[in-house]
Amino acid sequence: MAKKVLKFGGTSVGTIDRILHVAKIIKKEHDSGNQVIAIVSAMSGKTNELLKQSKTISKDFNKRELDVLLASGEQVTSSLLSGALIEIGVNSKSWLNWQIPILTEGENLNARIINMNISKINNFLSEGGVAIIPGFQGVSKNGEVTTIGRGGSDATAVAFAKIFDADKCEIYTDVDGVYSTDPNKIPVAKKIDKISYEEMLELSSLGAKVMQPSAVQTAMMYNIPLEVKSTFTDRQGTKIFDQESIDYTKSVTGVAYSKDDAKITLRGVQDKPGVAANIFEPLSKNQINVDMVIQNISSDQKTTDITFTIKRDDLLKTIEMLKKNKSIQYESMSQNAKVSKISIVGAGMVSTPGVTYRMFRSLAEEKINILAISTSEIKLSVIINEDDTLKAIKKLHTVFELD
Ligand code: ADP
Ligand code: ASP
Ligand code: MG
Repeated sequence: MAKKVLKFGGTSVGTIDRILHVAKIIKKEHDSGNQVIAIVSAMSGKTNELLKQSKTISKDFNKRELDVLLASGEQVTSSLLSGALIEIGVNSKSWLNWQIPILTEGENLNARIINMNISKINNFLSEGGVAIIPGFQGVSKNGEVTTIGRGGSDATAVAFAKIFDADKCEIYTDVDGVYSTDPNKIPVAKKIDKISYEEMLELSSLGAKVMQPSAVQTAMMYNIPLEVKSTFTDRQGTKIFDQESIDYTKSVTGVAYSKDDAKITLRGVQDKPGVAANIFEPLSKNQINVDMVIQNISSDQKTTDITFTIKRDDLLKTIEMLKKNKSIQYESMSQNAKVSKISIVGAGMVSTPGVTYRMFRSLAEEKINILAISTSEIKLSVIINEDDTLKAIKKLHTVFELD
């Protein structure tokens, strides 16, 4: 007997038929003697639909109410799935966030799960029950409903796997594993049989939304093995685990991209100590995440140009803050909202020389201009014009022998 946490994403529970199908997967696991906790997402599109409805009332909809609203999507699928299981003879029960409770910390819409009370669920499991839990949410110390960030049901699954000391945490989704790049964009993408936490964390942080980054991070911290697999086929999925057992013969494991970036350049910024701090301090205080920063020394040695990237959603707010910032002086500001970030990721990059050069050369061959660069031990990212995104991914995928 194993204790398993199974997580079903939005597409997997997108219709009543699919919920019935998921109930069968769970029944099979349960019939083979496993203890099952299932975490569910909202039906696909539901969270976006709820967000849109809130926006028609106000662009700045009250955050507390938005959390209550968004949490409802997962609650609907929990009860539907539990009801479907009962209907096929499985003893099942769903719990809402506050009934457990799943305790969270942090601001609305971006909370983190910190603890939960497992006694009721554990009792139910030992009586042979299947527990169904709504993903993506919790409740704060003060009893307020919270959500934990988009794609957060993955993080709920990992948190449950940790607290319940589960033997397995399986992420069921609409693709049959983690691929070398998004298989829905690049059909020649190849499935990866196994991948290290580190590489998966980079890939997901850099845009591969098949796993949510904070879920991977928690799994890595507590060494919880994950498997990403398909709800719709029986094919073997991708195992995500400790680095030891990974093959380093390939320099690059995957190509990720994100299209929600924007770039700002400040020209003629006074070149003296403290200027960068003065520019970025107010941004960080306002939760604006600055990603890449490039500073050029200008020829007169008195002024400099600073370019940095942020999330596209933060662009207007950032420009406003820069204009209001009395502690900085610059000649001009320009921005580009239509950029994307392309990244190559691979644990094997550490030991393979020339990866950087090959990436830049192949982009040049496609006449793609690089607007900014950032590197770490196992990843290399460039900012390019958004229109070149697909061309760049295809080229890099081929050059690094991933097709
Ligand atoms: P779920 O609703 O099950 O959580 P998501 O939509 O969050 O599913 O994630 C699955 C999607 O991630 C896939 O449909 C695919 O388009 C996308 N994706 C992006 N990059 C990758 C990748 N490298 N491998 C697999 N899927 C990827
Ligand atoms: N329903 C939430 C979202 O769409 C959480 C999730 O699906 O993981 O972001
Ligand atoms: Mg997801």
